[in-house]
Amino acid sequence: MTIGILKEPQEEARVALLPEAVKTLISWGTQVIIESDAGLSAFADNPSYVAVGASIKSREEVLAESDMICGIQPLLQEEILKMKPESVLLGQMGALFNPDLTKFLIKEKRTAFSMELVPRTTRAQSMDVLSSMATVTGYKAVLLAASSLPRFFPMFMTAAGSITPAKVLILGAGVAGLQAIATAKRLGGSVSAFDVRQAAKEEVLSLGAKFVDVEGAKEDKAAGGYAVEQTPEFIQKQKDTIHEYAAKSDVIITTAQIPGRKAPLLVEERTVLAMKPGSVIVDLAASSGGNCALTQPDKSIEINGVKIIGVGNIASELPQDASKMYGKNYLNFLKLIIKDGEINLNFEDDIVKGTCVCHAGEAVNSRISEMLTK
Ligand code: NAD
Repeated sequence: MTIGILKEPQEEARVALLPEAVKTLISWGTQVIIESDAGLSAFADNPSYVAVGASIKSREEVLAESDMICGIQPLLQEEILKMKPESVLLGQMGALFNPDLTKFLIKEKRTAFSMELVPRTTRAQSMDVLSSMATVTGYKAVLLAASSLPRFFPMFMTAAGSITPAKVLILGAGVAGLQAIATAKRLGGSVSAFDVRQAAKEEVLSLGAKFVDVEGAKEDKAAGGYAVEQTPEFIQKQKDTIHEYAAKSDVIITTAQIPGRKAPLLVEERTVLAMKPGSVIVDLAASSGGNCALTQPDKSIEINGVKIIGVGNIASELPQDASKMYGKNYLNFLKLIIKDGEINLNFEDDIVKGTCVCHAGEAVNSRISEMLTK
């Protein structure tokens, strides 16, 4: 079988598989064809792919000749039509939020897998691109905040006087939040964090940060380790506590999200206005509505001297390691659907079934079928 890798859209610097990952795929008995310069923005040039046994082709050739296309960003519908009808499409298509593309794939009887659907089970952990990219974004968010802050992160005792450490508040202590805590601690910040899940408390404390408790959070075991929507009373209590902490903070990094829903609004306009001029808010939930009322997606704005950074795809700003992690997750998933160098789809496997958007004209993942019947 032939696996194809296309150049991602201009705003995406990552590539799904770096040469190292391609080498492993070829050792499984597959052929790999790469669109010319597909890896360039992640610092993998054409010769580095050729050196591991891949061939460089044009975009049209990759689309027409591949039995499986591995990418990150969704493909345009007209390009999907250029693929062989029986070929398999793998990417991160945001299938639950992109009903047009999902319906199109079903209508065209395509087989598509979307990596954000990988179930959050222990066995699937090594394939979880959301966790990998959250690690990248949590880290990068702190660097963004530090480089925008008009003061130091660490404490200094110098001949020119003492500098107190920056106070950092992290909202949401999931994968991105925990990485942000660890990075802010390494930079010497004084870090506090909030989460609605009690399980997050221990993790926050073990990283040496303070946990800010707000009583009365709702939890649901059935949510598989994720947060659930909170009551209006709890959210108001939380907003008031954040308001109190925000006035003392130099940096707020918000990462709070609820799968499949708009991000909770935690930092109100009045809270931004209460912050010290020069403070920075980095909103990692910007693309799902934002945790701060004033966030503008993909933009940095300033209100009363407070900078609000509405972060988009910052994983793409660390393309080398982000692509390396992506590729490792992909290989672990591909092991489940490639056997003896050929595609072998076993829908009895919960990970294969859970990650599949559609096959043979039907939605496969149960959340996709639910979304389509709503
Ligand atoms: P996420 O990106 O959906 O959310 C980020 C964080 O925001 C979560 O910790 C959530 O609890 C928090 N949050 C939501 N609403 C909030 C509110 N109102 N106030 C404060 N915080 C709020 O989640 P994620 O980081 O992808 O994952 C969350 C958890 O899922 C992880 O910590 C882990 O326990 C589990 N997980 C399991 C696996 C696996 O087993 N394969 C993989 C990844 C994550």
